[in-house]
Amino acid sequence: MKEMPNVLWLEEIKKEDIPSVGGKGASLGEMTSIGLPVPKAFVVTAQAFRRFLVETGIEDTLFRRLERLDVDDNGALESVSREVQDLVLSVGIPDQIHEEITDAYTRMGANGTVVAVRSSATAEDLPEASFAGQQETFLNILGEKDLIDAVQRCWASLYGARAIYYRAKQGFDDRSVNIAVVVQELIQSEKSGVMFTSHPVTGEPLTIVEGSWGLGEAVVSGSVSPDNYVFDLRSGRVVDRLIAEKEIMIVPEGRHGTKIVELSSEQRVAPVLSEAEVARLATLGKIAEDHYGIPQDIEWAIVGDEVFILQSRPITTIKRPEIPRPGAAGKQKTAQGVVLLEGQGASPGVASGRVVIVRDVKDTSAVKDGDILVTKMTNPDMVPAMRRVSAIVTDEGGMTCHAAIVSRELGTPAVVGSKKATKVLKDGQMITVDGEKGIIYDGTIETAAVAAPAPVAAVAAAAPVITGTLVKVNVSLPEAAQRAAATGADGVGLLRIEHLILGLAKTPGWYIEHGAEEEFIGELYGGIKTVLDAFPGKPVWVRTLDAPTDEFRNMEGGENEPAEHNPMLGWRGIRRDLRSPDQFRMQIEAFRRLWAAGYDNLGLMFPLVNHPNEFVQARAMMEEWGVDVEKVTLGVMVEIPSSAILIEDFIKAGIRFASFGTNDLIQYTLAIDRNNENVADMYEPEHPAVLRLIDYAIKACREHGVECSICGQAGSDPRMVAWLVEHGITSVSANIDAVPRIREAVARKERQILLDAARRNA
Ligand code: PEP
Ligand code: MG
Repeated sequence: MKEMPNVLWLEEIKKEDIPSVGGKGASLGEMTSIGLPVPKAFVVTAQAFRRFLVETGIEDTLFRRLERLDVDDNGALESVSREVQDLVLSVGIPDQIHEEITDAYTRMGANGTVVAVRSSATAEDLPEASFAGQQETFLNILGEKDLIDAVQRCWASLYGARAIYYRAKQGFDDRSVNIAVVVQELIQSEKSGVMFTSHPVTGEPLTIVEGSWGLGEAVVSGSVSPDNYVFDLRSGRVVDRLIAEKEIMIVPEGRHGTKIVELSSEQRVAPVLSEAEVARLATLGKIAEDHYGIPQDIEWAIVGDEVFILQSRPITTIKRPEIPRPGAAGKQKTAQGVVLLEGQGASPGVASGRVVIVRDVKDTSAVKDGDILVTKMTNPDMVPAMRRVSAIVTDEGGMTCHAAIVSRELGTPAVVGSKKATKVLKDGQMITVDGEKGIIYDGTIETAAVAAPAPVAAVAAAAPVITGTLVKVNVSLPEAAQRAAATGADGVGLLRIEHLILGLAKTPGWYIEHGAEEEFIGELYGGIKTVLDAFPGKPVWVRTLDAPTDEFRNMEGGENEPAEHNPMLGWRGIRRDLRSPDQFRMQIEAFRRLWAAGYDNLGLMFPLVNHPNEFVQARAMMEEWGVDVEKVTLGVMVEIPSSAILIEDFIKAGIRFASFGTNDLIQYTLAIDRNNENVADMYEPEHPAVLRLIDYAIKACREHGVECSICGQAGSDPRMVAWLVEHGITSVSANIDAVPRIREAVARKERQILLDAARRNA
């Protein structure tokens, strides 16, 4: 290692100095050298640390202690780590180094400057990235004494148990690993945020700036929704601006910490940045991008008139893939397309059209036939607009969210959970949505039509297949009943009535409060009858109301819905109906009238049951309200692990059928929110715990001759369905578009089972 001073200012640092100042120090130095306004900082070099070890005489003891350590012995690892860290903290920093650090600190500002003290560990020739996050950072440090203490603590953190273990496993020799410490003025930002110097997906020369009040931590950690500004570097103008409602800001507190402060109502909705500030940030971003030769992801802060750049690193997400060839490979002409966004393909089909961003239901009046509706998440008020559009794209949600369910029923291509469609796409922009693959392309893709699936009825008619396992269909909107029936399905395995009720725009509570029960019963009766009429002689299982309170909130009467921390675990399903007899009675009255009108094919299913008593209680209430419960078909959804585990008790209580609601069963078994795109990759229908619960319940149902079905989204997955048939399920219920392929999967599996049996007996 060449002779190096104990302290280096950012202005003195060159790219090659990584071994002395670490990756963090070198990058700040480089940004300073190209003229970016980086907050003042100096680095206590790796050499200072080595001199400290040698001059205090602790070096040998320290390394010998580490050499003898077996890092797989947890107890020893913890105790040696503590011992070595204590050793580093127990000795004073040699005078020369101490003085150079405090001198540099004094030069930063006369009255003591508040600084951030950050570790930057490094091995010879290796940037600190390999050790990122393993050493300490101390924010909000003031005064020489605390500064020296923080530097020494950063050094000691090189010997944290996790860091020692990691180095040993990666084959690093502790003697060759060093640590530098960056001491940087802490910017008490009035506003701060991040920016992408070019469009993060398309690479266009559009700088995207996100900003919020206070320290940048609020934006980086995602605890506020920041304002979003799009600056076009070609025209030098802000071309799009979204002022978010910013509820809080993070500010420094006391000597070492930060705190969250609620914002006033004015500040919440006030724009964080002026046009001039956005332009200034974009210009600085351009300097960094030009210097590094690749678009940058930058952290910035502003105090008064001063702008600071805190960090700059390359954006890695830009991609311009070739559009995949739709249909049979090689037959169609190849089209080039730019991928703007990706999400989950929630409803198959491909469509092109003009983007209309809907932030509020009021905006839906702007949606014209054939447009593409882009929104954070759809809600029942948007269903009329959803009927008009050629495709739907949402920021949030998973395969079983409102947008996904309704789009599939309407046969409209949809991509959900894109995370940022409402930010990245612009009103009027032409895009193409591939609802099968979950891709959004820029512009109109000519070959799109070729990729569109054949109408379900045509496929069904072309391949009539008879299966022993009944293949039914799910319906949520009465208007989809004819499309559903055209699949030739063996009945309806789930008719969700909440979409029908949510479409009424008034809560059941509103009808009760306004003495309008008859109107509610009439609506329900009419909607369900439409579906029953489309399936004469085939079973139709209708489910009682299961809408979480947050879905009712926007409706008339929704103001009376309780505010719940977690509506998925709250006041919904049968538990709500049992405690709201008036609401339950209106539904039962509609069913009673349908049975009385001769619709014997109507079966009733209770959602979200978690104990057989709920079934018993619901049935008793129906009896009290005039239903002949011995004659009608009553069953339950199996959506909670408890109902799968207690399935025999449900059977004893008299259920005639059970249907797996895997959308909920998966979320409640795995603790994965089904509507949260951030954990969508962990939402695993084939998780062994889920399969074991299902297998257990199927066996019990078979043993007692009770029909056992599935109506969750997993029932539209051919692989899962093959597994279910193999394990003895008696019927399955799929989405309209999936019925033909599910019927085929069932038939194939059944034949295979028969063939295997025949061979065994031959
Ligand atoms: C389920 O949970 O699988 C189900 C079908 O019910 P929903 O999606 O309506 O909660
Ligand atoms: Mg459910």
